[in-house]
Amino acid sequence: MNDQKEKKVPSLLDRLAILTTIRDIELFEFSLLKTMSELLKIEQISMYKLNQANSSCWLMTYSVQCKEDDNKKQLSETQEIYTTEIDVPEEIKTAQLWINTTGKPYINIQNDEYLIVYPVFGASQIESLLSFTLSHPLTDSEMLIITSLLSIAHNFRNLLDENQKDKLTGLLNRHTFEDSIQKIQALSFNAEGHFGQEWDGKNRRKYSDESLKFCLAIIDIDNFKLINDQFGHIMGDEVLLLLSYIMKQNFRAKDLLFRFGGEEFVAIFRIQDKNEAEIVLDRFREIIANYSFPQIRTVTISIGATFIQSEQLVAAEIIGRADKALYYAKSNGKNQLHFHEDLLKNGRISDSKQTGTIDFF
Ligand code: GH3
Ligand code: MG
Ligand code: MG
Repeated sequence: MNDQKEKKVPSLLDRLAILTTIRDIELFEFSLLKTMSELLKIEQISMYKLNQANSSCWLMTYSVQCKEDDNKKQLSETQEIYTTEIDVPEEIKTAQLWINTTGKPYINIQNDEYLIVYPVFGASQIESLLSFTLSHPLTDSEMLIITSLLSIAHNFRNLLDENQKDKLTGLLNRHTFEDSIQKIQALSFNAEGHFGQEWDGKNRRKYSDESLKFCLAIIDIDNFKLINDQFGHIMGDEVLLLLSYIMKQNFRAKDLLFRFGGEEFVAIFRIQDKNEAEIVLDRFREIIANYSFPQIRTVTISIGATFIQSEQLVAAEIIGRADKALYYAKSNGKNQLHFHEDLLKNGRISDSKQTGTIDFF
């Protein structure tokens, strides 16, 4: 009996030690699922990451299968994450309503199985729902494991969040940018390890619709120095705040939005085709141009954009392309959106490595 106890404690502590060394939020969440699965001895556990704006969510699932024969035990684990939004399943909606009204975890018996759903809190509200099934009712010690782990996870997640975010605007900071590019690389490679590729007559890679997966845009406020000079730094900060607020509304929850420097922002977002990127970015440019900022009234932005392809995932190169397009927008009257690929195609810029306005890493 004592032996058993001694074995269990280090395993929990080991898992916690591993969990709290992870610096990436998504990896951390997977690791949390794995830890729960090990400690509760459950084969599958899911996390529904709720999109607050509508009734959709992203699903993350960890499952483990254990095959045991006479002399060996074989574990095979699967980690799945949906990269597109799905509708929140009915049973999870019911659980969400129950949790919101009672503040208690949801437990429902279905075909001799217990469906258990626990809320996972973000900074101020329920951010996701953790769901798994058990063949028996939850015991007190299982409940303790879940609530302790979720409370540690909550505190640690907040720390991670703070590290990744810009203090003024709450957008991601520049420091997390390279990590994000690497994550996109992992997401966008297809089974053969490359996007659909095409070559133009000059032996250069051409962007084709199938190869478009992500767009990166640098957004820079026009004449921001003048705003500071005329209205003061505090009003300047107010513009940065309002702009990032409108930016969060204009993009989707899963899009990556960074404050890159003083009045420079970067957006990385998933797209189906080039047209979609143009619509999203030009709509944002127009919303800002038409917004009446207190005292200042009109503020405009210039946007330089490019597409991210799996073979060209050097962060400095991608940002360099977008920056050249931004530089073009600035020198041609500002309040404009340009794509590096279009400018190159139309001979408005050359293919040189020389960059525009941004200092790299
Ligand atoms: P352009 O249209 O070419 O982009 O010109 P600009 O004036 O916007 O750009 P420039 O790079 O010349 O000036 C940016 C200014 O942003 C200078 C700097 O003082 C100001 N700035 C940088 N960080 C902050 C900040 O956090 N708050 C405020 N209020 N101003 C900032
Ligand atoms: Mg500027
Ligand atoms: Mg600038």
